[in-house]
Amino acid sequence: MLPIYLDYAATTPCDTRVVECMLPYFSELYGNSNSFHIYGSQALEGLHNARCQIATNLNAEPKEVIFTSGASESNRIAILRTVERLKSDFFTAKTQHTSVMSLVTNLRNTGANVHYLKVGSDGILDLDFLEQELQKSKGLISICWVNNETGTMQNIKTIATLCHKYGSLIHVDGTQAFGRIHVDAKDLDVDFMSASGHKIYGPKGIGILYCKSSVAKYVRIPRANPDVEFGIRAGTVPIPLCVGMAEASRIAKSYIDSELVRLRKIRNDFINTMKNNLEEIYVNGSETSNYPGIINMSFRGCEGEALMMESPRIAISSGSACTSNKLTISHVLGAMGIDPDIAQSSLRITMGRPTTESDMQIASEDLTIATKKLRAMSPIWDMIKAGVDINKTFKRGIFQR
Ligand code: PMP
Repeated sequence: MLPIYLDYAATTPCDTRVVECMLPYFSELYGNSNSFHIYGSQALEGLHNARCQIATNLNAEPKEVIFTSGASESNRIAILRTVERLKSDFFTAKTQHTSVMSLVTNLRNTGANVHYLKVGSDGILDLDFLEQELQKSKGLISICWVNNETGTMQNIKTIATLCHKYGSLIHVDGTQAFGRIHVDAKDLDVDFMSASGHKIYGPKGIGILYCKSSVAKYVRIPRANPDVEFGIRAGTVPIPLCVGMAEASRIAKSYIDSELVRLRKIRNDFINTMKNNLEEIYVNGSETSNYPGIINMSFRGCEGEALMMESPRIAISSGSACTSNKLTISHVLGAMGIDPDIAQSSLRITMGRPTTESDMQIASEDLTIATKKLRAMSPIWDMIKAGVDINKTFKRGIFQR
């Protein structure tokens, strides 16, 4: 039997209703949206309706919704092109998704100044520091709304207001937010926002970049075909995927309010159970500003990976999916200043629409048994219990950053 899936921040299953509505666009309405004939106009109509649906969910204009291959590409388009066109600085925090962090080298190679913003131990952006930095220079700020590893949620409206006050632009990585919390692009007044289809029970290989009309010029490809995604992207548009993402976002919106309440209760029960069962466990991220479906928990004295192997009934991850194959400390927890031994013992458990209370009951049973077993065999746990400061004792020898 397969383990219970508790990795919904990594990806979600495609909703069967989404699959149904994509099917005709593979073999019946298969035209190229750029063709002049009836096949082309059928495809174009599907694309237009998909764009309008997503625009409605975002409270944006249809022409502000650009289909991409996913949030990684959206992040790349918004950040690299804007910073290069404006020859401006780039501001971000070290808690961002790897698709943003990996752009820093590219930006530095093109001569851009990169400023790292400060976050607290809860992962929340230090707004005083941000304001000081914005007073010194202008540029593009990129910030993740809901952190994919911890669920910590930033106050995007306040950050956007600050950015605009000092003449900077803001890109929001909304990948874990879109379809999970309400998103109103006009109210937030952000310049760019990325989202992904496969995080919201839609297909993989599709995402969007929201580009406010006034800033779209910074991300257009010079001399591109203006008929393809308003000149921001090239190639043949994957209509079935666009239609699927639109349907997924329509369905997701109808679940947001009830899911937030349901997941909050399951989260609280799970955390309370774990705290009753075990000593020295920690919830990483903000206690007050978080998306409830993402739980990042540390089990002191245990390796995250060992805990996963000892919990065969659940499919979870240590750190984010993109870094979970590396035995280094999560860059997100490191940037939050979490002690290396706590960061090394962290797991990410993420819930979705199919997750039930009894799934999380099984997770708590497995993780409790696994933690007790590993601690019973662990010399490090004995040292922790004896009051040894193991982070000082081992420096960075065993806990690599
Ligand atoms: N940003 C965040 C916050 C994410 O969680 C992810 C997916 N792990 C991405 C970007 C990349 O999304 P995609 O898989 O659509 O490229």
